[in-house]
Amino acid sequence: MVLLGPPGAGKGTQAKRIVESRSLVHLSSGDLLRAERSAGTELGKKVASIMDSGQLVSDELVTEVVLGRIREEFERGESGLLLDGFPRTISQAKDLDEALAGLDEKVGKVISLKLADEIVVERLVGRRSCPKCGRVYHIQASAPKRKGVCDACDGELVHRSDDTEEVVRERLDVYVRQTQPLEEYYGQAGLLSEIDANMAIEQVSGEIEKDLDLAFDN
Ligand code: ADP
Ligand code: AMP
Repeated sequence: MVLLGPPGAGKGTQAKRIVESRSLVHLSSGDLLRAERSAGTELGKKVASIMDSGQLVSDELVTEVVLGRIREEFERGESGLLLDGFPRTISQAKDLDEALAGLDEKVGKVISLKLADEIVVERLVGRRSCPKCGRVYHIQASAPKRKGVCDACDGELVHRSDDTEEVVRERLDVYVRQTQPLEEYYGQAGLLSEIDANMAIEQVSGEIEKDLDLAFDN
């Protein structure tokens, strides 16, 4: 399945819950790219400034990384993946379809989380992320038990360099121009559901689960 939605809509938060309830593997393209940066790889160095500016990394680079991981997961025998942050352009979606077809797999459901810009800004300026395990918190709405420390793995929480108001507004603009057209792409394929993300975390999960039940459990 694919989770769409602007930055801050709650994709990562929901992904962590769904992969547990459904035994899926969570693949976040943003987390994969940030891991390359922390490891100081050539790719990590290439993508750093573009990520910090809020623009999209080139289709070629990101597709290679993500499709590589998808192939590895299926080779390992995983039966289902939750993609978060990928695809983000029509070209990425087409490459994904082609790669999955080659593995005798396909996208089974796409959920688009909808959230107004002003709430996105509030959420991201207050977001704190764990670079070790990828868990996210919010300084008000879902604070960790100990300030600055991840509840799950004791990692030191960070405020991402692209989570400033200025960069968030740029990322929102990029979302509308480059990623939102995917709603039509997946809508035409009969795969899309849209969910209001301006509800409590548990309520959003409940709505997602209902859609997944319809898509996969009958
Ligand atoms: P995305 O992966 O779409 O960028 P995140 O899951 O990281 O979004 O969530 C962005 C911020 O909003 C985080 O600080 C998270 O704790 C908070 N958040 C996520 N879902 C909700 C919600 N339903 N209500 C309030 N805050 C939320
Ligand atoms: P995210 O963690 O999903 O908010 O992504 C953070 C940043 O990583 C984005 O602003 C982009 O610069 C880059 N990125 C993540 N996924 C993609 C993608 N599928 N295509 C292009 N760039 C991406």
